[in-house]
Amino acid sequence: MNLKDYIADVPDFPEKGIIFRDISPLMADGEAYQHATNEIVAYAKEKGAEMIVGPEARGFIVGCPVAYEMGIGFAPARKKGKLPRETVEVNYGLEYGSDTLQLHKDAIKKGQKVLVCDDLLATGGTIASTIKLIESLGGEVVGTAFIVELKDLHGRDKIEGYDILTLVEY
Ligand code: 5GP
Repeated sequence: MNLKDYIADVPDFPEKGIIFRDISPLMADGEAYQHATNEIVAYAKEKGAEMIVGPEARGFIVGCPVAYEMGIGFAPARKKGKLPRETVEVNYGLEYGSDTLQLHKDAIKKGQKVLVCDDLLATGGTIASTIKLIESLGGEVVGTAFIVELKDLHGRDKIEGYDILTLVEY
């Protein structure tokens, strides 16, 4: 199965000059969604993942079915102000301004092996921040998994030393 067939290219979204890679056709197709999930599950097993973390919001779509299939937990990394209990947080730079990502303080146990899942690796800012949060709680990031990688943006360089699985490359 060629997963690229299930990703829609949307020119000039969210801004002129950007081609947005939309994974919703993949999610809408049961077989394609299952195929992508199974690939990440195999990787998660190989890495011995004990917990999945996904950043808001498409990280939930990718990470939750993996956690369910493996019978392990999922913790959401969310934008500031969304999580109701005590959190750890990290600020990260965007093209214009900055954003803050949070995790519940009790989301990860010390020494726990964590796989981070998101839909897409672009500049790597989101994944690097998510890794920081997990490590600040004593978790061990055993891998990162994405459906799509935008090679030209060199996100890999930002998470050098961490293992990466990507299913589709542009
Ligand atoms: P980064 O932090 O690596 O620059 O950007 C990745 C984050 O932005 C991911 O959480 C992803 O959901 C979102 N993102 C950025 N560009 C795209 C895109 O073209 N398609 C999709 N689906 N998400 C994107």
